[in-house]
Amino acid sequence: MEKIKVLIIGSGPAGFTSAIYTSRANLSPVLYEGIEPGGQLTTTTEIENFPGYPEGITGSAMMEDLRKQALRFGTDVRRGIITDIDLSKRPFKVVVDHEHEIEAESVIVCTGATAKYLGLESEAKYRGMGVSACATCDGFFYRKQDVAVVGGGDTACEEATYLASICRKVYLIVRKNYLRASKAMQERVFNTPNIEVLFEHNTAEVLGDDEGVTGVRVVSTAGEERTIPIMGFFLAIGHHPNTEVFKGQLELDEQGYIKVVPGTSKTSVEGVFAAGDVKDPHYRQAITAAGSGCIAALDCERFLLAQ
Ligand code: NDP
Repeated sequence: MEKIKVLIIGSGPAGFTSAIYTSRANLSPVLYEGIEPGGQLTTTTEIENFPGYPEGITGSAMMEDLRKQALRFGTDVRRGIITDIDLSKRPFKVVVDHEHEIEAESVIVCTGATAKYLGLESEAKYRGMGVSACATCDGFFYRKQDVAVVGGGDTACEEATYLASICRKVYLIVRKNYLRASKAMQERVFNTPNIEVLFEHNTAEVLGDDEGVTGVRVVSTAGEERTIPIMGFFLAIGHHPNTEVFKGQLELDEQGYIKVVPGTSKTSVEGVFAAGDVKDPHYRQAITAAGSGCIAALDCERFLLAQ
């Protein structure tokens, strides 16, 4: 059986940052890229808010740079998915792609979260061309334009309010006749003059052309149809943390995010650390994921030194 010191699961900014730090500390990490090599950033367009890129950079190019940086210091980057893991005792036993078995002295979990989409064909067609699940990332591209946000939770209200500060008009498409968001967030939405809330409305189709999104067709629960011209269509209907394989082994919160000791990356199992969106339902930024990847690498290094 293959024996390794550090196993990093996931290849977003958290995974590669942990890899850069642990390889520079001579811990010979092995990183498995998972289902979506490069993580969520590869599905966004331009990234303008990651410090150090004054001209901006595409998500794919940034992930390629992070990968190259990890390889430069000797990270063993592999294609593969962790299909089984036993964290009940050390060394931890891990199965990759149902066949390859590994024993790892420590594990850094950076499996991220996946934004939920409505599942419409038209929505998939314009993903990255006006359809986005991150207003903080992509809102700026639609400044002074009209946009729509789907959802009625805190994220939807927060994103609608943010977009209202840069866009001309924001339509908030809510399927029920009330917002699920906290009272304070609701008030902010209702007090923002350029947000129009469409209660009891569902999205039937995202409309567009070769350039990207041009509008959205919505239907009310009473059956009335309406086409709204917009340039950006933002989903804010929640995220799934990618923690299925850790259920019953690591302590998770009620939404499935990994619980860590506040201010650290330490999970409920000694020797297992978590970084990035898999433990963060709030900030979800590339830069915060990268920062938490650094924290996990340092926590992991200290843990291994103490052994
Ligand atoms: P939530 O699960 O709270 O809300 C999801 C929203 O999307 C709901 O309004 C839901 O509608 C709607 N929705 C789900 N599926 C569909 C669909 N297929 N079509 C249309 N609408 C749909 O997710 P959030 O991301 O908003 O929040 C996650 C957690 O993070 C919450 O606990 C929230 O409080 C917290 N949070 C806190 C913030 C803060 O404190 N500043 C900021 C952001 C998040 P319905 O109500 O009908 O189910």
